[in-house]
Amino acid sequence: MNKLCTLSAEQVISGVRNRDFTIEDYIIQLLERINDIDDEIRAFITINDEALNTARKLDKKIKNQETVGLLAGIAVGIKDNICTKDIRTTCASRLLEEYKPTYDATVVRRLKECDAIIIGKVNLDEFAMGSTTEFGSYGPSHNPWNPDYVVGGSSGGSAASVAALECTVSLGSDTGGSIRCPASFCSVVGLKPTYGLVSRFGLVSYSNSLEQIGPLGRTVSDIVMIMNVIAGFDENDNTTDNEIKTPRFVASDVKRPVRYGLIKELVEGSDPAISKLVYSSLDLLSSNDCKWEEVSLNCDYALASYYTIAMAEASSNLARYDNLRYGFDFNPEGYEWNSYFSKIRNNFGDEVKRRIMIGSHVLLSGYYAKYYLKAQKVRSILRQEVKKLFKQVDVLISPTMPVLPFKLGEDIDDPMKRYLIDTNTVIANLVGTPAISLPAGFSDNLPIGLQLMTDEMQEQLLFDVSKMYESAASVNRKPDL
Ligand code: GLN
Repeated sequence: MNKLCTLSAEQVISGVRNRDFTIEDYIIQLLERINDIDDEIRAFITINDEALNTARKLDKKIKNQETVGLLAGIAVGIKDNICTKDIRTTCASRLLEEYKPTYDATVVRRLKECDAIIIGKVNLDEFAMGSTTEFGSYGPSHNPWNPDYVVGGSSGGSAASVAALECTVSLGSDTGGSIRCPASFCSVVGLKPTYGLVSRFGLVSYSNSLEQIGPLGRTVSDIVMIMNVIAGFDENDNTTDNEIKTPRFVASDVKRPVRYGLIKELVEGSDPAISKLVYSSLDLLSSNDCKWEEVSLNCDYALASYYTIAMAEASSNLARYDNLRYGFDFNPEGYEWNSYFSKIRNNFGDEVKRRIMIGSHVLLSGYYAKYYLKAQKVRSILRQEVKKLFKQVDVLISPTMPVLPFKLGEDIDDPMKRYLIDTNTVIANLVGTPAISLPAGFSDNLPIGLQLMTDEMQEQLLFDVSKMYESAASVNRKPDL
């Protein structure tokens, strides 16, 4: 294997600074790796043709002793629902198959300003709707730990590309677990930040009130490094917190006293192999200063509330895809408006169509109070309950996913079964708190993730605890590929 591919972001940056290798060497090795294995993994939808040129330009600057940005050398995979100037941004949808944005999302602009290289655009479920990365026009991605299994989703390409050593780190989006689920299924670290900490400008909207962009990487320190670049107020996104201009998170090894709360209902609802591992993780985290207790959170209606709100917002967000401003080549001549419009919108995949229909239904004036309003009430109650728990404990713990990765295509026609696996992850989105998934171990050679959640804007605590766990657990992060 090309050995530079295994390096963490921290190692790449220092290797480049110390002139152990050039950025060009590194990018060439990654491109070769993608060439060798991506036919099997199918993480990438588009490779950035400019990546190698950018690498050479940066090398030249380094050679001439000019200053380069903080992230010079690293290669980032970007989920294909985050806009990249002049690079196709398809959302794995036929409706956007030819869409080349004229601008960069704020997160992409900030990465580029620090000289990170965009290596390509990675796969997802169409418009980020799904938990397996099987529902996109590009077809499914395959799990690097076992290619017959799903990668999780919807940021499946983001997780698979990092796990399979095809890029240094990646960005995903998380509306109801889409960063943490594939991070868990692929044994990488994935963070959903506090709502409002990272700009959503340039993220193709699925459900605005729930989603956040966040990083996936092979180490906690890499996540911290990316957060320091992408987080903070953005005048183009008025939901970002204007108190936080440039965050200064640190990836430190400090030990601090922490009170952990294990969410009883979520651990009880999981596969026995997963709950067992969560209990042994708690042993690793416990010490004289760090205690854990069981806490109770009524999550019975969280999933229903999440899907009602997400689908309602999706139905309104997706109304704009009429093939007039962006889309694919389909001549309207000879069609009357309604028939053209319905013909075009028939190009959405079945899952997206299902959500547009349910979302429109729950917003109908006759049903609004019965469904949408009720879902919002559940959301507020859940928020109050979680806030209460954070008076009692500092960190909430649960399995990231209640199930192990399963075979591609399994129960693919049973949407309810697929929705149910999001039970543990949707809470952080409904409430707005940050949550991270950490590699915790394996069962039958399939990865298991541990989810940690802190109160809003408590990312530093989350990183400290994650670092403690990472070094205590030292889980294998490299599949045999
Ligand atoms: N699986 C969830 C859904 O389909 C979450 C998706 C996401 O976070 N983008 O809505």
